[in-house]
Amino acid sequence: MNSKKILILLILSSVISYGQIHSHAGAKAINYPNIEGYLTLKTDLHQHTVFSDGNVWPNIRVQEALRENLDAISLTEHLEYQPHKEDIPHPDRNRSYEIALEEAKEHELLIVHGSEITRSEPVGHSNAVFITDANPLLAEDAATPFAEAKKQNAFVFWNHPAWYAQRPEGNPVLSDFQKERIKNCELHGIEVINTFDYAEESLQIALDNNLTIMGTSDIHGLIDWDYTEKGMHRPITLVFVKERSIEGLREALFKGQTVAVYNELLVGKPEFLIPLIKASVVIKEAIYLPETSVLKVTLENVSSSDLIFENNMPYTFYSKPPLFTITAGETIDLQIKTLETKNKINLELKAMGAYTAPKEHPLISWEIIVN
Ligand SMILES: [Zn+2]
Ligand SMILES: [Zn+2]
Repeated sequence: MNSKKILILLILSSVISYGQIHSHAGAKAINYPNIEGYLTLKTDLHQHTVFSDGNVWPNIRVQEALRENLDAISLTEHLEYQPHKEDIPHPDRNRSYEIALEEAKEHELLIVHGSEITRSEPVGHSNAVFITDANPLLAEDAATPFAEAKKQNAFVFWNHPAWYAQRPEGNPVLSDFQKERIKNCELHGIEVINTFDYAEESLQIALDNNLTIMGTSDIHGLIDWDYTEKGMHRPITLVFVKERSIEGLREALFKGQTVAVYNELLVGKPEFLIPLIKASVVIKEAIYLPETSVLKVTLENVSSSDLIFENNMPYTFYSKPPLFTITAGETIDLQIKTLETKNKINLELKAMGAYTAPKEHPLISWEIIVN
């Protein structure tokens, strides 16, 4: 091979590798650690574009997700509510998904095929995700889209149950229609966080009916204007998967392996929420201050949530109140008065921004080995 050929090959291979690694990650990428036995996927499975009542083309949703470092999104257009149909006639309800899929093809971002089944109360709104064809879900009666979604092995969740436009008191009520859907295995999850709203009444419904806990943005405008510019992240669902794929994601959602997150608010079952918070705080060092029994423990918050903790140990802190925050990405020192020097202690903190049930905060424990 002559040197000219080698040069061309080098240029070509650098172009190819550049094509594979190019990224759109923005300054506000979202990060959460994996937990033991699972990969943590960051998902937003409820979003709109001009193909229903949103304001942007589907490719913008893909680019927003890449900027925020999400792992999976779904564009869940209202099947029935089509305010732009004069300008964008839309006989094939799969188009939004197809455009997003094309935009994401050089990236690892998973695009989940979904639709929003849209009815007034008592049926309300529900998202069917992992569908194979949106068109058969468009029907006159309310039961047909749920039966069709089941036929397609879709995961279905109840959207914004507390929405005051449908529930003037701002509280969800599980209707007979929905009870029937749960009994028929046609409704599997519930949003406890939608847009800016967390409803603990929705969390109670999730726990009472063994529904998967979800958090979504339900974005119609721009993520940047609604959240990023205000110093926030959109609500997301962390899904704990065995395998990073559409199938892995679907399986984990059916098993309820989620934590809903909205900035410092984390909502989930203890078996996932506790390991998530535990993995989010990395113990960097633990040493006694010279000639004292004051143990200095250095902690780093590796998550994108500010973590609010309350001391739950028999020991108190030196120069820090019992309620304190480690902001996202921050490293802090705790000075723990252990009264006598120890080789190890259990750091026990109550996570005050986290909920395993209404008004219930999980207790997190780290074994600290003194250096
Ligand atoms: Zn809706
Ligand atoms: Zn929606």
